[in-house]
Amino acid sequence: MDVHHTDDAVTRRIKAFTERVAQVKANDLYFYNQPIEEILPGMKVRVNGRTMGMYASYSYLGLINHPRINEAAKRAVDKFGTGTNGVRSLAGSLTLHTELEETIAHFKHAEAAITYSSGYATNLTVVSTLMGRGDYVFSDKLNHASIVDGCLMSGAEFRRFRHNDMEHLEGLLRNAPPDVAKLVIADSVFSMDGDIIDLPKMVELCKKYNAWLMIDEAHSVGVLGERGTGIEEHFNMYGAIDIKMGTLSKTIPSVGGYVAASKDIITYLRHASRAYIFSAALPPAQAAAANEAFKVILDEPWRIERLNQNTKQFIGGLKSMGFDTMLTETAIVPVLCGDDNTAFAMTRECQHNDVFVLPVVSPAVPEGLARLRATVTAAHEPDEIERAMEVIGEAGKKLGLIK
Ligand SMILES: *Cc1c(COP(=O)(O)O)cnc(C)c1O
Repeated sequence: MDVHHTDDAVTRRIKAFTERVAQVKANDLYFYNQPIEEILPGMKVRVNGRTMGMYASYSYLGLINHPRINEAAKRAVDKFGTGTNGVRSLAGSLTLHTELEETIAHFKHAEAAITYSSGYATNLTVVSTLMGRGDYVFSDKLNHASIVDGCLMSGAEFRRFRHNDMEHLEGLLRNAPPDVAKLVIADSVFSMDGDIIDLPKMVELCKKYNAWLMIDEAHSVGVLGERGTGIEEHFNMYGAIDIKMGTLSKTIPSVGGYVAASKDIITYLRHASRAYIFSAALPPAQAAAANEAFKVILDEPWRIERLNQNTKQFIGGLKSMGFDTMLTETAIVPVLCGDDNTAFAMTRECQHNDVFVLPVVSPAVPEGLARLRATVTAAHEPDEIERAMEVIGEAGKKLGLIK
């Protein structure tokens, strides 16, 4: 340890954490950062030499390693190399970036789009560029951390409404001064619970109270709508959302984030958002992969059908065994465990039987609502899902969650 900092608050904070992690590891309850040695077909992975069914993936349509997408990435490397010359505004903008943004705008039924280096950076920079001191942001209590951070960074008045509670949202909107700028912001599909935001009611409230609407579609692209284009398609409400944000790291097997919106909003963001102006462009391979992936989704609608079938099988099966899967309607399936230790024990049982799931415990979710957060994808085979459910069921019986 550095002798210059023996006893300041930072040293103590680091020490406390080091001890906590060591203790969890000593109890064989540390499930994070596991080294995945290989990605295998059929949503399997090799971890510590063992082949496991992967039930913690965000690759909802199973597009990782899709030949068309891999090829597009390789072609981009051959043509442009592995990096860019810097930030987009100066020397880093490639034709690949423009193509990707046009593809996203088309896919999201929007006039224009802008990309950033991650979904996290996108929420941070977009909320804090649009909103500022004196403005009001209204955020669902279960919104993703990147939205919360963006709201705090903006310096706007920050109001949180109870999860998917439109009456509470209306009360907060009514109480805000009528003449201030307002932004309502929520996840489309909630990343810990798998339920869907009440978009129709939210749109109605935004109109009534003259508020902008921003929706984070990290878990709805490739998941909601018959064509997989997201929440506007799901509710047949094209054009209802002012700012459609998404990530290129989940269904889209790349990295990066984007916003699709009106031409004017995108022009503003391109010249005012700091994560665009002061951070490097997406690498060519990742931009090309993302561009191809949006096209593959439209060309292969059977993947969405498969995802829906697998989701139904998984949720239905777990429920019929007696598990509480909360309000999920999507591929994100919480298996409620209650206290943190039960969630850890469930995880250990599942992983020892080659089912890769992860626990979500407080503070990521409220105390007492610890869970396994399992995800199912289009790439799982029905008999594999059956086997995984048997393993989860055996674990649940052993720990007294089900009979
Ligand atoms: C994953 C996620 C993000 C962040 O996206 P990254 O590209 O991984 O940075 C933002 N919002 C939600 C709801 C997410 O689930």
